[in-house]
Amino acid sequence: MMDCLFCKIAAGEIPSKKIYEDDKVLAFYDIDPKAPVHFLVIPKQHIPSADYITAENSAIVGHVFEVIAKIAAELKLEKGYRVVNNCGEHGGQTVEHLHFHILAGRSLAWPPG
Ligand code: 5GP
Ligand code: ZN
Repeated sequence: MMDCLFCKIAAGEIPSKKIYEDDKVLAFYDIDPKAPVHFLVIPKQHIPSADYITAENSAIVGHVFEVIAKIAAELKLEKGYRVVNNCGEHGGQTVEHLHFHILAGRSLAWPPG
């Protein structure tokens, strides 16, 4: 996907503050953090949103959550964190490449606005 911001970040064409990378996923800090700790985990494969998760590609979601647990341990997020996926217009999705937000470092309100 030539015009996708997160594909460009995954390919290293646009710089990011990386936390973790393997052949399938990349984790990097959000450019506009909404909590003291705010990073994103994305598949390197272009999947436009959660609407496009299928039996063929859903294994990546499990891998993303494995990576989240690993990073949470490394960053010592013992007090907890929130994993968010915004999907579509009403979900507040602004970048059309599947991504999971991890927010931590303060108590988070529920339900979100
Ligand atoms: P969404 O609103 O689609 O769920 O989340 C997109 C997120 O990507 C936002 O939190 C936004 O701050 C972040 N973001 C947008 N552009 C960039 C960028 O160029 N670099 C990084 N690191 N984050 C970005
Ligand atoms: Zn993409």
